Amino acid sequence: MKTSKKIRNKIFALINPGKKVYCLYCKKTYRKFLHEGVKAKVFKTYTVAGGGYKKNVQCPNCYSVDRSRLLYLFFQLRTEVFQKKTHILHISPNKEIAKVLCEGKTISHVCGTIEPEQYMEFNPVYLDVQKIGFEDHTFDVLICCHVIEHVDHDDVAMREIHRVLKPGGFAILQVPLALNLEKTLEDKTLKTDKERKRAFGQVDHNRLYGLDYFDKLKNAGFRVVRDNPFQNKWLSKEELERHRLDPIEDVIIAYKDQA
Ligand SMILES: [Zn+2]
Repeated sequence: MKTSKKIRNKIFALINPGKKVYCLYCKKTYRKFLHEGVKAKVFKTYTVAGGGYKKNVQCPNCYSVDRSRLLYLFFQLRTEVFQKKTHILHISPNKEIAKVLCEGKTISHVCGTIEPEQYMEFNPVYLDVQKIGFEDHTFDVLICCHVIEHVDHDDVAMREIHRVLKPGGFAILQVPLALNLEKTLEDKTLKTDKERKRAFGQVDHNRLYGLDYFDKLKNAGFRVVRDNPFQNKWLSKEELERHRLDPIEDVIIAYKDQA
């Protein structure tokens, strides 16, 4: 991040003291958070959860966003990873949540990525999600968020994720998800940045998932559950609003059931 932007964010933090919003990563509170995200028309047109530009979502101190706070709360409140021995494969991780998981006494955390140089603090291994270099049934939990919309063969990636999970394990597979689009938008003939940005919202995305995303996961062998913190009342409404989660974003959990 540029120094000028850092200074601006520091000033934002100073002029917005308060208790209305809370960052559970750095434990700071403010009157409001920073704006964050990518502006693209397609995100609005299709009501995309986990994508687009949002007001009041980014912590001015540690830069956590709603998506990463959602995952922290999910692991804390809805799983036993901090209580039970858990072997996790975390693909191209969000750094805030990776740090928290690495510190978990019950967790052994493997960071896998095609860009190891970007993740040196997590002792990364080189890993392409379309060809995961681990044996079948290796991990209890696999986290692969905002990755498979970038890869060429998402069906292969989904099957690979299923393969390396232990039976009874689960994967967290967040993607930008268009809530009023039945069928995923995908067009391999789009080559320029401008074309991709217009069609999928981001220049490096290969598709924009619609509701058939869940069928794709089922076809790879998963049982899919969507867990929404507001609908399923993880915390009181007031508390959830302090975390500035997005009410339309579910956690997408793909279970590999025991045979
Ligand atoms: Zn923070």
